[in-house]
Amino acid sequence: MSHDYEELGLVAGLEIHQQLDTATKLFCNCPTERRDPADSVRSFTRYLHPTKSELGELDEAALEESRVDREFEYLAFDSTCLVEEDDEPPHRLDGAALEVALEIAALLDCTIVDRAQVMRKIVVDGSNTSGFQRSALLATDGEIETDAGPVGIADLLLEEESAARIDDRADGVTYGLDRLGVPLVEIGTEPDIRTPAQAKQAAERIGMLLRSTGRVKRGLGTIRQDVNVSIEAGARVELKGVQSLDDIDDIVENEVKRQVELLEIAEELRARDAAVGDPVDVTEIFGDTARPPARHGAVGPRHAPGRRRDLPHRRAAGLRRHERGGRGAPDGGRRARGAERLERCE
Ligand SMILES: [Zn+2]
Repeated sequence: MSHDYEELGLVAGLEIHQQLDTATKLFCNCPTERRDPADSVRSFTRYLHPTKSELGELDEAALEESRVDREFEYLAFDSTCLVEEDDEPPHRLDGAALEVALEIAALLDCTIVDRAQVMRKIVVDGSNTSGFQRSALLATDGEIETDAGPVGIADLLLEEESAARIDDRADGVTYGLDRLGVPLVEIGTEPDIRTPAQAKQAAERIGMLLRSTGRVKRGLGTIRQDVNVSIEAGARVELKGVQSLDDIDDIVENEVKRQVELLEIAEELRARDAAVGDPVDVTEIFGDTARPPARHGAVGPRHAPGRRRDLPHRRAAGLRRHERGGRGAPDGGRRARGAERLERCE
């Protein structure tokens, strides 16, 4: 079924991450080629310890993650240096990467900033040995054309790629250091996209411009896209890590469909006067099972005494978990992201 996207108030934005094909990494002289984990020559482990920022604040996400007590293992190769291990300060920003990023900014008709400043974004999943991703805003206010009108380019950043996730266990994660520090451009569009077809075309145009430089990496995993989608009565949802351009229209369409159907379910539940009661402790019941029950989300009997919550409200809360500062909203997410970057200047 095709929707009337204008009537639904569809607003979408893209965030595209593209690895650059430079000889050396962004903050050290190591090669940017991917390696086979089997070629790793040694490994080391780290735990995440949250520390206070320059402003004396503790990052809540980092604090929460550290409570899980997961061990991060890093596979090092014969080419791995002390910068990648976070045992040496980062070197000067790679000149070749800066040059390609500025070329891309020019192709996107962006305004280049007067002065680029490398900043840090907190990383809580262990995908960077330093606990930060280093990132520099290089350009703003660009534009690309689509058949349905122009799509603004909000900003372009030059960043370091995260370490590649190789193995995921209950008590930890193994990462490969070959990918850590590969130069990456992050391009964010304004939330100017109004149809699934326009989302696909915008992504295609940006992809074409990137490849036209002849200096971006090709192949699976070298380009990743996050798609922000919202409809007027729904919530803003960020779909992360889309690797294929061909799927973007379907992805936007399916997300709209999902939200429309959730709204229909909410309406039906409201009509039936449905409610969620207080949580019930089921620990005893599952006491002998191998996996302990989740602490949250127990659903009580219908019309249970006590505080009563509307289901539509619960639905909204559930959706919100997927949200993040992003491109779907006209300003909120963007402002939050910018603020975070400013607070953590190196
Ligand atoms: Zn290195």
